[in-house]
Amino acid sequence: MTSLRAERDDPAASAPHPRLIIDLAAIRRNYARLKELSAPAAVAAVVKADAYGLGAGRIGPALAAEGCGAFFVATAAEGTSLRRALKGVKADIYIFNGYWPEDAALLREANLIPVVNDMWQLEALRAGAPWPFALHVDTGINRLGAPAEAVLEQAQAGAFENMDLRLVMSHLACADEPGHSLNDAQRDSFAAITTALPGVPASLANSAGVMLGAPWRFDVTRPGIAIYGGAPVLGEAHPFEPVVRIEAPVLQLRRLKPGDSVGYGATFETDEPRLAAVVGLGYADGLFRAAQSGGYGRFANHRLPIMGRVSMDLVTLDATGAEGDIHPGDMVTFMGEDIEALAAASGTISYELLVRLGARFERIYQGG
Ligand SMILES: *Cc1c(COP(=O)(O)O)cnc(C)c1O
Repeated sequence: MTSLRAERDDPAASAPHPRLIIDLAAIRRNYARLKELSAPAAVAAVVKADAYGLGAGRIGPALAAEGCGAFFVATAAEGTSLRRALKGVKADIYIFNGYWPEDAALLREANLIPVVNDMWQLEALRAGAPWPFALHVDTGINRLGAPAEAVLEQAQAGAFENMDLRLVMSHLACADEPGHSLNDAQRDSFAAITTALPGVPASLANSAGVMLGAPWRFDVTRPGIAIYGGAPVLGEAHPFEPVVRIEAPVLQLRRLKPGDSVGYGATFETDEPRLAAVVGLGYADGLFRAAQSGGYGRFANHRLPIMGRVSMDLVTLDATGAEGDIHPGDMVTFMGEDIEALAAASGTISYELLVRLGARFERIYQGG
């Protein structure tokens, strides 16, 4: 009877619950691969948004142990927690979201390097005591960054000579579309800036930028998603390993008869007998409701497609192919090597799946 649970090995273990398994060894290997690909450029790690949801407090130190000497986060608060997590290990921590004078004390306390994004921030920094900073120049994404012409003008006038400028950077808008004309245009415009700032290390490439080729890599690359096993360029093969998988328990098995429907709204109806596995994972955990069309979990070598709507704590999978093998309490796997397929089914990109992972998982770090 498929509805009977299998004998469990450890009767003292807690009830089966969703787990997030994060492979620090795979993260380190992805970083090492990025170093090979970027050389002779150095590789700084982007660990904003809690290392794309996976835990900057664990991933920062793991990357530092792999030789990473520079990190990027979005806010000074993120920088402060990273500094604490690094426990005295030396590393530069850059703050993408700009120099805000109200953060000056925080920056000094945690020894953080602001990334200046606008001319007024440069003036504010000049007016205070000398402090190391990076300069973000906009070369066409029109997101953050000081205007290229204004920066060129100041650089040619020697305005940075008495300042502690540690890095000049820009950000690519279309690196994940290798044929896009903006890639060449941004590289050329950035190259002109770096020529006007001799001796200042330069950084342009995110993960996809690293894959574009040597002319985009300059002195320092800034990958994020590739470290976390996501595809830099959608649909293209890449050398990075999956680093995160979800394991969620089968809570109940049920037989469906022709004409039975599944879940809220009865949006899925079967026309043949099927075995349904109700799994303890829902949109509260970051399994998008949109994943109902095309999303699946894995059990052993079976793919179990989602049937009907994803609810807050539960999702129902078609386990017909696994009948006889699968039992209540067994763990179904999501993400892992299927991360891009799950993102596509969810109508989004792997980045968003990662940062939306819920707070309910037991998080297990392996290979630390
Ligand atoms: C997030 C971010 C990165 C990292 O991008 P990936 O695509 O994850 O490699 C690099 N630079 C800037 C400015 C960013 O905002």
